[in-house]
Amino acid sequence: MTVGKGRVALVTGASRGIGRAIALGLAERGFDLALNDIPRQAKALDEAAAAVHALGRRAVALHADVSQKIEVEAMVEKAVAELGGIHAVVNNAGILIAASVETLAETHWDSVMDVNAKGTFLVIQAVLPVMKRQAYGRICNIASIGGKHGAPQQAHYSASKAAVMGFTRVLAQELGPIGITANCVCPGIILTDMGRVNLDDPAIRNAWAAKTAMARIGDPEDVVGPVAFFCSDDSAFVTGQTLNVDGGIVFS
Ligand code: NAP
Repeated sequence: MTVGKGRVALVTGASRGIGRAIALGLAERGFDLALNDIPRQAKALDEAAAAVHALGRRAVALHADVSQKIEVEAMVEKAVAELGGIHAVVNNAGILIAASVETLAETHWDSVMDVNAKGTFLVIQAVLPVMKRQAYGRICNIASIGGKHGAPQQAHYSASKAAVMGFTRVLAQELGPIGITANCVCPGIILTDMGRVNLDDPAIRNAWAAKTAMARIGDPEDVVGPVAFFCSDDSAFVTGQTLNVDGGIVFS
């Protein structure tokens, strides 16, 4: 994997699950890390930053809610002040609140949209001046196969992830001429705290595994390689794409 010297990656929602695995995986591949999570996860985020540091990379823990513009701007300012730039950003922070369309509360629609879709927009808008100055940037937004085919109880989640994919395609077209690529990774069924919403029951876990070509659900580490590719120089001519990382559930 080709990663330039002194490259810095910002990963949101990095205290646990897929985000933590991505942060550690990028550190192993040579990135210094700005790790973000919501303030209520401060302890876990500090531990994740310490784990990155233990791999011999610089790490800064940034406690901020990605749906709050002021907090996002302060977060990006601190990352640049401490690490000197941001070359790759992984918008991974996300929430899932299961509910049918019939029972879905308006507040839950709003909060899922605020974190998953607006949070992605706010982080990108704050990071853009930094990437423009560098004339270089790699954006990897974590969407979901749920944003492509949907699933019962996830109308708001599915809509938010479809929004992330549409947003990413526009980013690719607006930012390509200034040396910035933007792509999406769509995880499938990954065993994390969020994944457990669907997967606590072994029968459901087995049913999902049976739906994959590889006959298993995923671990957070399964998502790392594809994200690292989009964050590296190896993907220099790839932009506006969405890559399913699902063991073979969705084939488009
Ligand atoms: P997770 O275990 O719940 O971790 C997500 C992290 O993001 C949590 O620490 C969470 O904190 C944090 N977060 C929530 N709201 C935030 C905010 N406003 N600002 C900053 N951080 C915030 O989830 P995961 O399974 O690793 O999922 C990571 C990403 O992959 C999400 O975007 C998710 O939609 C996507 N994805 C996951 C799966 C799956 O099967 N797991 C499948 C497809 C896509 P709290 O826990 O305190 O809210």
